Amino acid sequence: MPLIDHVPAHIRAIAPYQPGKPISELARELGLEEAGIIKLASNENPLGMSPLARAAMESALADLALYPDGNGYALKAALSRKLGVALDQIVLGNGSNDVLELAARVFLGPGVSAVYSRHAFAVYPLVIQACGATGIETSAKDFGHDLRAMLAAIRADTRLVFIANPNNPTGTLLENRELADFLAAVPEQVAVVLDEAYVEYLDEARRSPSLDWLASFPNLILTRTFSKAYGLAGLRVGYAVARSEVADMLNRLRQPFNVNSPALAAATAALDDLNFLVESKRVNDTGMAQLCEGFVRQGLEWIPSHGNFVAVRVGDAGRIFQALLKRGVIVRPVGNYAMPEYLRVSVGLPAQNARFLAMLAETLGLPG
Ligand SMILES: *Cc1c(COP(=O)(O)O)cnc(C)c1O
Repeated sequence: MPLIDHVPAHIRAIAPYQPGKPISELARELGLEEAGIIKLASNENPLGMSPLARAAMESALADLALYPDGNGYALKAALSRKLGVALDQIVLGNGSNDVLELAARVFLGPGVSAVYSRHAFAVYPLVIQACGATGIETSAKDFGHDLRAMLAAIRADTRLVFIANPNNPTGTLLENRELADFLAAVPEQVAVVLDEAYVEYLDEARRSPSLDWLASFPNLILTRTFSKAYGLAGLRVGYAVARSEVADMLNRLRQPFNVNSPALAAATAALDDLNFLVESKRVNDTGMAQLCEGFVRQGLEWIPSHGNFVAVRVGDAGRIFQALLKRGVIVRPVGNYAMPEYLRVSVGLPAQNARFLAMLAETLGLPG
């Protein structure tokens, strides 16, 4: 039998993650200048990165001949101070995707199941499947997580639940009360991963006291990232915070040098750059308002979002996506999230948002 036929069925069945189209690729395809293309497709920070992070990364280049600190001590110490958790509660990842996968590999395998919601982040079903576990997809409520349905879906063999709050690609946010009740009701043998990749974009008042919940819920795992508000998507740094006994299990599976030294240095410095974070949120708030006002003018429906992106209903999203590409605008069709009529657009700088809105109007034959 050929080699490929010996690959386990659960691996052959994986549908690969579809990343946003890089600017360089579209430029090649269309013969356009890269400078003439805007990409609002991967929820990247339109401000770039913090200057402090850049300086720290540049200094770290001098030591690239050496292995990184496998414990990530400096970054963990900075996170520990900022979050008020112990060092041994933190698991560093090559992006938070890495820690999502570590959580899956710790708790899942053939014969057990994990629950996630329809329209939730595409990485959850991927990592569940990669472990050979059974994914249980629950129906959504107003495009967001239906926590009652998720609770009801938990079976005797369920070991993990994934929740994104805010969720990508819908931008939906759960009420704190609802989430706390859910955590209290989940059986102790089921881990709950609460993915807070966009938490920095929330107003203080809307943030859940998720770090405090760790004291009451030993099965809770929080994940966060430096890819979005901190503007370091290309460096790949994220982390999980959990009770120390849970973090210990994830750390056992973690590759010792999964976060490289420029990334460790940049992330540590980024934590200190409060101005950059405040500015990132301000630019996002105004850009989100700009996009939504545009949708109102164009008579388009959208899903109110708490992230740095918004899903707008355009009809045949695949066709509109292609038409926008021809005009040098890259956004993200979300048909693979069972939302074939929606495009997800990341919030850009004012001029980028304006150009996207103008090109969208042109494509749809609407007044700008
Ligand atoms: C972007 C995103 C992440 C972060 O991915 P990284 O691997 O940290 O770049 C995690 N979860 C969700 C829901 C996201 O949208």
